[in-house]
Amino acid sequence: MNEEFQDHQIRDIIRINYKYTMGGQSKFFLELMKHKKLLGTKCTKCGKTWMPPRINCSDCYAPANWVELKQTGTIEVSTIVWYTTSAFIKAIPYGVGFIKLDGAETALLQGIFSENLVPSKIKKGKKVKAVFNKEREGKMTDFFFVPEDEYENWISKPEYEGGN
Ligand SMILES: [Zn+2]
Repeated sequence: MNEEFQDHQIRDIIRINYKYTMGGQSKFFLELMKHKKLLGTKCTKCGKTWMPPRINCSDCYAPANWVELKQTGTIEVSTIVWYTTSAFIKAIPYGVGFIKLDGAETALLQGIFSENLVPSKIKKGKKVKAVFNKEREGKMTDFFFVPEDEYENWISKPEYEGGN
């Protein structure tokens, strides 16, 4: 390093307010927020049902129509999270996994919470059910999945509720 160079640093904070659009997938987030519905899409040509929803089929590129899916599903693959960003730090440890909702042919990456979080509780093939925050903002964090046998416990908590 050049001996004449002296680095002077000032600690500061940059705060950025911004908004972004969900574009063609806005309907998914609005129905989630307002009506606790989980909408996928069904291809008008090949009939494949997508969750997360695709406005156009990712296989054949034909337009897809909105369809309401069941709020139960099966874990395809999962893991337990021990390190995360500040947004989720209070929740660790928690599960995440790809969930195939009943009626969908693709899987959704989403949080899986359990009151007794051990790998066997969230392993492949286990049935899960969606639980919704009472205060929803139209974000993916408005809902999460729980093992089916814990569903009634979760929706009895004051901050959560069951779906449709
Ligand atoms: Zn298709």
